[in-house]
Amino acid sequence: MAHSIKITRSEKSRINDIDKKNLVFGKYYSDHMFLAECDHGKWSGSRIVPFGDLQMHPATSALHYGQLIFEGMKAYKDAQENPLLFRPDQNLIRMNISAKRMGMPEILADLFMKALNDLVDIDRDWIPTDAGSSLYIRPYMLATDEFIGIRPTERFQFIIIMSPAQAYYNKPVKVVTYSKYVRAFQGGVGFAKAAGNYGGTMLPLREAIAAGYDQVLWLDGLEHRYAEEIGSMNVFFVIDDVFVTPSLDEGTILDGVTRDSVIELARSMGATVEERKVDMDEVVQANKEGRLQDAFGTGTAASVAPISLIHYGGEDHMLTPVEGRTWYKKIKTTLDNIKTGKIDDPYGWVVPVGAAKAVEA
Ligand SMILES: *Cc1c(COP(=O)(O)O)cnc(C)c1O
Repeated sequence: MAHSIKITRSEKSRINDIDKKNLVFGKYYSDHMFLAECDHGKWSGSRIVPFGDLQMHPATSALHYGQLIFEGMKAYKDAQENPLLFRPDQNLIRMNISAKRMGMPEILADLFMKALNDLVDIDRDWIPTDAGSSLYIRPYMLATDEFIGIRPTERFQFIIIMSPAQAYYNKPVKVVTYSKYVRAFQGGVGFAKAAGNYGGTMLPLREAIAAGYDQVLWLDGLEHRYAEEIGSMNVFFVIDDVFVTPSLDEGTILDGVTRDSVIELARSMGATVEERKVDMDEVVQANKEGRLQDAFGTGTAASVAPISLIHYGGEDHMLTPVEGRTWYKKIKTTLDNIKTGKIDDPYGWVVPVGAAKAVEA
């Protein structure tokens, strides 16, 4: 049964109020947003309304205990200005994996896909078309029980907001590793896109930036030696033409849609990809011997972001100059061209808005 959404349009678009030449990520939000509620496992109230503040009871559970999960994806426009989504089915699957771990209800495939499709369709003028720019889409779900005690929650709200953004990282990233701070641990919630995973990284990130780095490259929680991921990106190293990336087996890193796409693209280009434990000593050694050909982060926000420097083992390690690297550039160009419909999509990744495909959730 097709999900039905009640639509209330904004009276006047705000699109002419924004500085289109300077779309700072997260500064502007589109005219509309989507909302729906779940009470004891039953979803209702699906609606698209003018973007605006949320009203909440001060004891709203998520505000106290962090039961909040989110997703991040982007809409692009092809040369004919048709809006395109990139692998939205994967975001739904991951959102439901996060929901399960956090004791929250699954979002029905029908509801998720229709909400996305209709919201992007209504606000399609908000999808910027300059190179590297896109409309960032943020679905999220929070526990809304009005109760200050800790107990399993029964009421939830699912919301989608959207923000036009220019290219996210313009320059190569310098990353720092810590052994005094850990992002995730086996048995924890590291594989979920859960709000608290990020709250705990704000202090280390502040320190990293103050010390002249851009991001934290998280290491494993036990030995502080194996690479995990960077901020909101997965990480890849290319050593002797082999792509090496941390495996998902420990349950401590996000199963990135970009990560998965990069693995597929690298293999299609003839490269070997290994998903395994990545020892930072191995990475640093390969770098010293000139065998570390590339290192980059992958994520929806940044696409593919080359790493220029890694601080590990008390030392800054400068990597091979970004200008001379071919792998990250090749992967990024191919990925970005598929997302924007510039080249053929042999994988069925790109979904035109107006015909979002349904998946089994
Ligand atoms: C969102 C995120 C990623 C990247 O996932 P994509 O689906 O590629 O955007 C990687 N790591 C963390 C911690 C994230 O939150």
